[in-house]
Amino acid sequence: MSFDFKKYIADIPDFPEKGIIFRDFSPLVGNGPAFKEAISELAEFGRRKGATAVAAPEARGFLVGAPIATELGVGFVQARKEGKLPRATESETYDLEYGTSSTLEMHLDAIKPGDKVLVVDDLLATGGTIQATIRLIERLGGEVVGVAFIIELSELPGRDNLKDYDVFSLTTY
Ligand code: 5GP
Repeated sequence: MSFDFKKYIADIPDFPEKGIIFRDFSPLVGNGPAFKEAISELAEFGRRKGATAVAAPEARGFLVGAPIATELGVGFVQARKEGKLPRATESETYDLEYGTSSTLEMHLDAIKPGDKVLVVDDLLATGGTIQATIRLIERLGGEVVGVAFIIELSELPGRDNLKDYDVFSLTTY
């Protein structure tokens, strides 16, 4: 039987705006066995795809990506908000689900030639955040071999926007 991840995801009505149900995965991260199971299933997907690196956008993506990289024994690539990285970067600006925009940056040497990258985040909504992360990886010469999430919101076009990639998620709303 598959693990019931939804048991560890809290539904928060009207956050950050009226009419939005925020899916809060803090209880999952806060539960040892549930978090371990989530990381191990996502890492297994990355192993199947032959990932040689794991990349994620800050901040919730880091909570998911770093332990997956450790489990696979590969490096972790940070996609950070504008102005946080100290050395030369590539940058990508993208639209957010709630009508604003944001910029992600990656160090120019974050991706090694020939890297096969597993891209992860906590949640797939419109796909804007992860598409910006993917564009950075590809511009730096990496190959995206898979994209993985803990939570997928199926009523939004995230999966359609990622149709060129193998998308895996642990739970869908
Ligand atoms: P997208 O770019 O796919 O529209 O939105 C996904 C990004 O927004 C992710 O980085 C995620 O952390 C954040 N996000 C948007 N809605 C939610 C939500 O309901 N729950 C959580 N945990 N994150 C969300």
